[in-house]
Amino acid sequence: MNTVLLVEDEKEIRRFVRQALQGEGCQVREAETMAQGLQEAASVKPQLIMLDLGLPDGDGVDFVQRLRSWSQVPVLVVSARSTEHDKILVLDAGADDYLTKPFSVGELLARVRALLRRSRTDNELTTPVVQFGNVEVDLTRRLVSKAQQPVHLTAMEFKLLSVLLANAGRVLTHRHLLREVWGGTHSDHNHYLRIYVAHLRQKLEDNPTQPVYLQTEIGVGYRFQP
Ligand code: CA
Repeated sequence: MNTVLLVEDEKEIRRFVRQALQGEGCQVREAETMAQGLQEAASVKPQLIMLDLGLPDGDGVDFVQRLRSWSQVPVLVVSARSTEHDKILVLDAGADDYLTKPFSVGELLARVRALLRRSRTDNELTTPVVQFGNVEVDLTRRLVSKAQQPVHLTAMEFKLLSVLLANAGRVLTHRHLLREVWGGTHSDHNHYLRIYVAHLRQKLEDNPTQPVYLQTEIGVGYRFQP
């Protein structure tokens, strides 16, 4: 059974989320403060942490920074703040995804399922072949095909695709992707990303103007949605 740790100081939201997650067959642990949350994370070892950004004894960004020094458990941030700046800060600190309040049960469960899937696969050997839709990517042999037809990707396109695939379901900020693919000196060249993501969509999506797998998070970054 999956255990989700909910770090949230608002009782009403805890109740709403707890009911939704229990309905999904998850076990739910609750914490009201950052200190309590970190303590629970260490002792319970949950498969997922849902984290409110505004806690009485600290900021969610601090929570993620401290957690990441000893744990890679997926973190779903739940926040009333909706500015891009806040989202980028917490994602760069190491959170995996975010939901902006108010959100529906459907949205909540979709994000939770995606992150729990990732949490499970992280513990297994990484599969060298990733499939989505009619696309197959062989990461070791660097071969890509769509509907059984070989697709040629440039070295940079392949590198960008690999980073996205390795972080399935996770929002990656512009800065994170630029650093991983092009190296630290290009962290303000967001247009590189726009161009390369457009190329990848052109080659891999059925309808490049309405991408299903290579999604844009407006103002924040990109996500591979398997
Ligand atoms: Ca709060």
